[in-house]
Amino acid sequence: MPMARVVNVERFSSEDGPGIRTVVFFKGCFLRCAWCANPESQRAGPEILHLQRRCNGCRRCLAVCPAGAISVREDGALVSEVAKCRLCLACVDACYQAARILQGNEYTLEALTELVLRDYPYYATSGGGVTLSGGEPLLQADFVSRFATALREQGVGTWLETAGAVPRENLEQAAPLMQGIYFDCKHVDPGVHRQLTGLDNHEILENLRWLDANYQGFLAVRYPVIPSLNDQPEALAAFVKLAASLKRVKEVWFLPYHRLGKAKYQGLGRLYALADTQPLAVRDLKYLNQYQSDLAVPLRM
Ligand code: SF4
Ligand code: SF4
Repeated sequence: MPMARVVNVERFSSEDGPGIRTVVFFKGCFLRCAWCANPESQRAGPEILHLQRRCNGCRRCLAVCPAGAISVREDGALVSEVAKCRLCLACVDACYQAARILQGNEYTLEALTELVLRDYPYYATSGGGVTLSGGEPLLQADFVSRFATALREQGVGTWLETAGAVPRENLEQAAPLMQGIYFDCKHVDPGVHRQLTGLDNHEILENLRWLDANYQGFLAVRYPVIPSLNDQPEALAAFVKLAASLKRVKEVWFLPYHRLGKAKYQGLGRLYALADTQPLAVRDLKYLNQYQSDLAVPLRM
């Protein structure tokens, strides 16, 4: 029986599908988008996240670490080195502030199902359910399929957020069990896509076209608008052209760049490459409404 590796289970979301939802963030993704808001979900394996905002600087973690994986920067901040960490959890146990957290807990199907079903009354009254996010949920397609099946048997619908960078068989296995799918597209040009994410988009676009030909649920395509990386007029127009060519897509989304994940990069001992990029608000994207006339479905942001 497969286990799920999960970084977070977030209750009462109203943004990841209809109604009130619980969002399960799965760990592991083949892409390395520089703007990723959930960098703790990118690596497949477990790791320790240091939450600076909770840390009081007592340095108990530093004292107990047997691997020299925690050090003090010139400005006094603690820095973690993932490569040295043995995942012994001594720092997690030593921290009274819960500022050091294991990312990547394993769940059995029963445990995760029971956890999310605690909010069943909210799903039932709001038309909500469970959304699978990440990371890339479809890299754990066996578990995801069993999970969605178990929820369906309880009358709870599942939605999926995917970047599509997965083998086709994973998509074919899990997609039919989803009520809705948000499919993220980062750039249409394969070379630029590789520069931005580490992978070209050949498989991603093939998977999107497969969904467009075969998927029966609610399909939406989304494009995160990242200043100077993928917001050039020709890049935006290429995405709209792609979206307009898809027959089953019900909504097209532009998502404004935000920096909510920035602190987590330092907490994982990683650099945030977009430190100088200013975040966008929805109002900054209003000019993109010009593309509505190219689409037969609603353009949202
Ligand atoms: S033990 Fe916790 S509170 Fe103390 S320095 Fe380490 S992370 Fe910060
Ligand atoms: S989990 Fe990693 S960082 Fe924490 S004490 Fe163990 S080796 Fe050190």
